[in-house]
Amino acid sequence: MHDRRLARQKLKEDPHDFEHRLHQAKMGLITYLGKRFLPGGYWSKNRMEEREQAQGLEKKTVLHLTFDDGPSPESTRELLALLEEEQVAACFFFIGENVRRYPELVQATFKAGHIVANHSLSHPFMPALSLPKMEHEIDETNRELEAITGEKPALFRPPFGIIDARCAELLKERRMSPVYWGAVADDWHRVGDDRVAKRIMKQLPQEELIVLHEGAHIGRQNVLATKKIIDKCRDLGYSFDAI
Ligand SMILES: [Zn+2]
Repeated sequence: MHDRRLARQKLKEDPHDFEHRLHQAKMGLITYLGKRFLPGGYWSKNRMEEREQAQGLEKKTVLHLTFDDGPSPESTRELLALLEEEQVAACFFFIGENVRRYPELVQATFKAGHIVANHSLSHPFMPALSLPKMEHEIDETNRELEAITGEKPALFRPPFGIIDARCAELLKERRMSPVYWGAVADDWHRVGDDRVAKRIMKQLPQEELIVLHEGAHIGRQNVLATKKIIDKCRDLGYSFDAI
């Protein structure tokens, strides 16, 4: 009774964060199911365990910044300038259709030394696709990216974080690795840069693989949030490395 009142009170105070927690629970379930039933990829926890074994009990302080859904005229150049200023290397998972629209942003990202990777052509839910369509989503995006960078992408981040065995096999045939994520902030909604930064910081350093999003209505918010996250992480003694 008491708890329920508290929850309602919290919802009144902060409907966005309530929504965020619900979403976290949902994503937690999806992640759990994914880990149980889908072929292994770069789950944040796996990477941590690997590193833990390699480093003994040493405290983990190396984090990874990744940006999904670009390139975007609202944020890519601003992110590149910020990352340059902060001397941080990141990984950008670009959507093929956006790559076609803004090839110059892809080139600038690659030239700045960041990892340029594949986030599908049109952002579909991969398990729902026929095999030829699935291949098309991966291969067309690879082709678009390679035409600009001269390199075939080695990483694929599935839209919504889900692939099935067929998609895993396609990636294997192409010597590509699926990359999931750890720390996420529902930053595709306009919730403000402070809130995005706080949500991410709460999950660090356990969830070392951070995902933030590019996009027309959230670009500015997430550039500002990235700056705050980098500053706070530096204060805490964490450093950054591309994946
Ligand atoms: Zn996405």
